[in-house]
Formats: sequence, C-alpha cells, structure tokens
Amino acid sequence: MEMTAVPKYFGELVFDDRVMKSMLSDKTYASLKKTIDEGANLELSVADSVAEAMKSWAIEKGATHYTHWFQPLTGITAEKHESFIEPSPDGGVIMKFSGKALIQGEPDASSFPSGGLRATFEARGYTTWDPTSYAFIKNKTLCIPTAFCSYSGDALDKKTPLLRSMEALNKQALRILKLFGNSTTKYVHTSVGAEQEYFLITKEMYDKRPDLKYTGRTLFGTKPPKGQEMDDHYFGVIKPKVQAFMDDLNVELWRLGILAKTEHNEVAPSQHELAPIFTTTNLATDQNQLTMEIMQKVAAKHGLVCLLHEKPFAGVNGSGKHNNWSMTTDDGINLLSPGATPYEDAQFLLFLCAVIKAVDDYQDLLRISVATASNDHRLGANEAPPAIISMFLGDELTAILDAIESDTPYTGTEKKLIKLGVDVLPKFARDTTDRNRTSPFAFTGNKFEFRSLGSSNSIACANIMLNSAVAESLKIYADRLEGSSNFEEDLHSMIRNTIKDHKRILFNGNGYDASWVKEATEVRGLLNYTTTPDCMPHSLDEKNVKMLTGHKVFTINELKSRCDIMLDNYCKQVRIEANTMIEMTLRMIIPSIECYIDKLATTSEKRSAVVKDMKSKYEESLIKKLSALLDNIYSSEEELAEVVSKIDDASNITEQSYAIRDNVIPKMNVLRDFVDEAETYVSKDCWPMPSYGDILFSIK
Ligand code: ADP
Ligand code: MG
Repeated sequence: MEMTAVPKYFGELVFDDRVMKSMLSDKTYASLKKTIDEGANLELSVADSVAEAMKSWAIEKGATHYTHWFQPLTGITAEKHESFIEPSPDGGVIMKFSGKALIQGEPDASSFPSGGLRATFEARGYTTWDPTSYAFIKNKTLCIPTAFCSYSGDALDKKTPLLRSMEALNKQALRILKLFGNSTTKYVHTSVGAEQEYFLITKEMYDKRPDLKYTGRTLFGTKPPKGQEMDDHYFGVIKPKVQAFMDDLNVELWRLGILAKTEHNEVAPSQHELAPIFTTTNLATDQNQLTMEIMQKVAAKHGLVCLLHEKPFAGVNGSGKHNNWSMTTDDGINLLSPGATPYEDAQFLLFLCAVIKAVDDYQDLLRISVATASNDHRLGANEAPPAIISMFLGDELTAILDAIESDTPYTGTEKKLIKLGVDVLPKFARDTTDRNRTSPFAFTGNKFEFRSLGSSNSIACANIMLNSAVAESLKIYADRLEGSSNFEEDLHSMIRNTIKDHKRILFNGNGYDASWVKEATEVRGLLNYTTTPDCMPHSLDEKNVKMLTGHKVFTINELKSRCDIMLDNYCKQVRIEANTMIEMTLRMIIPSIECYIDKLATTSEKRSAVVKDMKSKYEESLIKKLSALLDNIYSSEEELAEVVSKIDDASNITEQSYAIRDNVIPKMNVLRDFVDEAETYVSKDCWPMPSYGDILFSIK
C-alpha cells in the first residue's frame, strides 16, 4: 500500500463516526450519538438498526464472523468468534446479526479469573456492548468492544470500572465548571496518549531461549561488552529491517483508525517506542491493547519477535508506557491549560490542585495500578521512575504555587502578589527538564505524564485510579464551594490549603538518587512499596475502599476479587519463571558446563602428551573454577526447587505472594548469579543459548 494514500485508508476497518453518519438514519444516528457522548440509554430498536448497518458494512469488508471483544483480568484481550450465518429454509444460509446479539453476548467464559465473584453454578460471564468505543474488523471478524461482567453484575473486566471512573470524574468536574459560571459544557472526559516502548529481536534468537518463550524475559545472561552506555541508540538511525517493521505496523494501525504518530529508537539496543496521538481514555485503552497485539503480529511477519515485557534483559533498560493524561470538555477546553483571564487561571489552578491532592492522597492506589511481577523489576531499578510516587511540576510553576501558599510576591517575571480570580497568572514556560525522566508523574505543560506503567500493562488500571482519585478531590472542592457565600475567598484559601497540605508530593529533583528514597520516606512520609505483595493488599485499606465505592467505580466484592486475582497473577508469573530456571539449569546449563569441562580435560591430556614439561595448565585452573560453580549451581537449583515446592503450603494468596517475594525470588537471584558467572568462562560453542550480545544486536 502506498504511504501517500494514508487519508484514503485511515480507519477503513473501523465502524467510526463517518460510517455511522453515512449508514444510519438521522434519527438512529442522533440517538446513538447521545448514548456515546452522554451515556443515554439505548433503545433496542436503535441497536437493531445499528447491528444491521454494522453487519452490511463488515460483510462488505470481507468479515464472516463477529465477536464481543473484551478485557478480562488476565491483562490481555479475549474474543470468541461467532459466524453471521443462519440456516435458511432452502438449505442455504443467510447472514444475520441482531441488536440483541450486538448488545449482549454470553461467552460462557468460566475459565477467566473472577476471584470468587462467580459461583460455579453460575459460571457464565456476560459481555455488554460499549458503544463509546468503535467496532472494528480484525482477521475477518467484526470486533465489538464490550464490558464483561457476572450474572449478578459484578465487573470481571477492566473496561467496566474504567467507564465508571470516567463518569465519576465527569460528574464532579461538571459541578466545578458550573461554579465558574460555565453553563455550556455538556461533559468532561479524560484524554490519554500512551507512549509504548518495546524490544525487537530476531525470531531465530528468540527460539533458542526457553526463558523468553515461557516468561517473556531472560532469566540468565551476562551483560554484553557493549550495552547502552554510549547512548548511541537513543533517537539513532533506524535500521532498515526495523524501519520495514515500523512502516508495516503504521499501515496496520492506521487502517484500524489508530493515530500512530511518533516512532524512534529508545535507550537500549533493540529498544524502540511508538506514540499515538491522544484520544478519549476509553478508546485509548482499547487502542493500546490492539497496538500491542498488532505489534506482535507484524513482527512475526518480519521474522522478528516484539518483546513487551518490562524487563527482558537484566542490566539493560526496561520498557515502560507513559500515560499522558488530561481533562477536556466537549467544547474543547483543556482543563489543565492555564487560560487567558483571571477566572480561567483560577479554574486551572483548582484542577491542578485537584490532581496534586489526588496523587498525594492516593499514592498507594497509583502504585497498585501498575503493580505486576514484571514491572517490579523496573520500578526498583535505577532507570525507571522509582516505586515512590511523587510529582514534578517544573521550577516555575512550583515557584508560583509557593508564592500563593505563602502569600508572598511571585518574583519570576514581575514581583507581585497573586490573588486568584483577580490576577492573570504570570506566564510560565513549560519546564523542559521533563527530559529528566525520573519523575513518576510529571506535568508537561497541559497534561500529566504518569510514567510508572509497565510496557505490558493495560492502561485501564492506571486511569481507573487516576480518574477516581481526581474525582474525589473535585467532589471535596465542589461540596465546599457550592455552599460558599464568598466564592473567591474560599477558592483562594482552598487552593492555598491544598498546596500547604500536599506539597510533600512535589519533587523536581532526581528520582534515581539514593538520597531521594531517604528524604521521601523519612522526611516526607511518602510510601515506598517496592514489590507487588507490598502494595496490593492496601487496595483494601479503608480510605481506598471508601473512595472507590463512594464513586461507584468498584463494589467491595469487586475490589476483594481484584486484589486476589492480581496477587494470583503475581504468584503464577514468578512460579513459571522459577520452574523455567530449574528446567534450564538441569537440562541445558549443567550439561553444557560438563561438556566444556570434559573438553578441557581431554585437551589438557592431549597437550601434556605432546608438550613435555608443560608448566602452565590453564585447563586445570578453569576446570577447578567451573567445578566449584557447577556444585554451587546444582545446590542453589535444589534450594530453589525446595522453596518452589512449598509455595502451596501458604494458607492464602497473600501469604503465598509473601513466600514468593521472600523465599523464591532471592533463591532465583542466587542461582542466576552462579550461572551468569559460569557463562563468562564457558566457550561460546558449548553454551546452550545465545548471549545478551547475540540477542540485543541480532537485527543487522
Ligand atoms: P512529550 O511531551 O513526551 O515530548 P508530546 O507532547 O508530543 O511528547 O506527547 C506525548 C504524548 O502525549 C502523545 O501521545 C500525545 O498525543 C500525548 N498528548 C499531547 N497532548 C495531550 C493532552 N492534552 N492530553 C493527553 N495526551 C496528550
Ligand atoms: Mg513523553
């Protein structure tokens, strides 16, 4: 396909607004639009007409099946295909798709994790059409984005609470806007642009690494002589094979209406990034899931494998996902943009403060929203934002807030006191130190960038927590201001108090610095949950339950089940890693070291036979070293196997996750260290798998 034709094929596989407008009657279109924009109820007759149009459109494009496409708590997307065919009396078939089939499906999905929300006698889950995310065609199948819940209405997916959180924020933000005299805005939604990092390696290398195949990351491997220290990969020239992959990927994404915009090399060798143009959070979430799927599919076509794991290689930069987030009104106002009038500026500051308060009050929920076994590797290391949640505003904006807090003149451009609602804010430049990528939560001019997400995370969880927490701040503000007899004064003091009470969360310094951990935890009292088992149980802390159930984002049962499922995922993931290590050690690594020792012994004998009075016998010293390592490798493998066999002794999933954190992972690290040391001595021919250097520089 020609690159020049992009506008022609952009979104051709999407049942988007253009298609709806052209295929639906004015009346049907209007009522569907009302449902999409304002969440109005949908009549079955409207659904019937939409289904009919979707069917004709999809069949025209070659589709034979439809599926309710949903996001269970496994983190990936799920689909069960149904063909459109119905038998006709004459022995043939007709293609049928009803409004009922569009609205609700029954995937009989009893194997998806529900954390006890579905009793076995009622194991079915139900999918319900989400009209706010466009249907699309993938592999000859019409995919209908849907929510997934149990018979009794408990959410079993990530989309349902995300939609609820968007509604919660909408409701509270509208209350605030009204207080500022805005009577035109109909709804407020959040927008997200998710920058996606990934590694690309050759399929040939991938196939030789059982650890990559089973776990998505290398469990062994010494650092290559050349890594990322030269910084020569970041924004470097893109290799032709990678460029060919990116070109194909762009076309696939554009056809699906995904606004793929930026592509570049990242810090580590073989690491890259793709950023789309931002869109409504719900759509951005669906599109990011699709993007990850298409990346893997396109890579396979090119003989490559796309690694989305947060930490595929130890000692090399991991991959994250930057969640660029803002609040926008239907009439196009970005609520995180300072305005041109004093009132608009005061409104901006109030929304800014709402986010500051939200991030400080719910640091734990934000940390929890990105917690997985794989992302733990990243947040603990000195390369990604730390596990401590803090916020970066840049020096100028911080100085403005300081001036407001202390009622002292702002001395940036001109010396004056800032009175909210009266004065226009002094101009502040967007702080370019956001290139200091160490802050987990950075204000970048008119949006916040939440950087703690792992590359394989669904962005749903982070946005659920963020939307809900900000909705809570806004609710508190609205409750207070609605009853106020002196709006300006109360507004001013509320903003001042927020800054005073929550400034501990603001940090413009280097988040990788060891002194930050000390300051953050000991002086400021910020939380530092370094692992998933550390943070996850706090999702059930009283304040969190109160806030999330208060805004109807989760029920208490949903929260409990989610906590269990996330811990269960954690345990399963690490257990698979441990078992993979054990198998690789026993069946690949130990035998290879033995082979090499054997080779050395044979060579040594032959050399002695030929060379009389041989003084230096390097074989002997190497054999000694490797024999000692071999013993250590075997004994640490046995110790690992022992703790793995005891995982199930734990009385519940929380205890199990502690056992994994405290017993299994440390043993895995010990085993790895011995094996990695052995790798440095064993000849390349004998080592049973490609090295880091082979993999990271595999694309020529
Ligand atoms: P950066 O700030 O990282 O240098 P950009 O400003 O170009 O880069 O944006 C990075 C991502 O943020 C892109 O996905 C972009 O679409 C998104 N973005 C830009 N403005 C907004 C906004 N107002 N709300 C949400 N996302 C946005
Ligand atoms: Mg960025």
